[in-house]
Amino acid sequence: MSKPNRIYTIDVYCICRQYLFRYRKEGGGHLVKCFKSNIDKDETRKEGTCPSCEVPFAKDTVIKNRPALQIIKGRVFVRGHHG
Ligand SMILES: [Zn+2]
Repeated sequence: MSKPNRIYTIDVYCICRQYLFRYRKEGGGHLVKCFKSNIDKDETRKEGTCPSCEVPFAKDTVIKNRPALQIIKGRVFVRGHHG
C-alpha cells in the first residue's frame, strides 16, 4: 500500500522580500529544488533571478528527467504550509 505524496502549497520569496512564485511542494522538508511543473504565479522575469534585486536565487537543472530549479541556499525564504 503506497501513501500518496502530500502536496504543500508555499509562497517563495527572495531574501530582499520580493515575491517570486507559488510552489506546490511534494512532501515535507526544506526547499532545495523546485520542479518547474509545480511552479504557479511566477513573478520572475528571468528564470532563477529575483526581479527586484536581480540576484540569482536558483540554478537551472534536471532532476529525475524533470526540469527543475536548484535553490541556492540562503537566497530565498518561504511562507505557507511546509512540512
Ligand atoms: Zn531579491
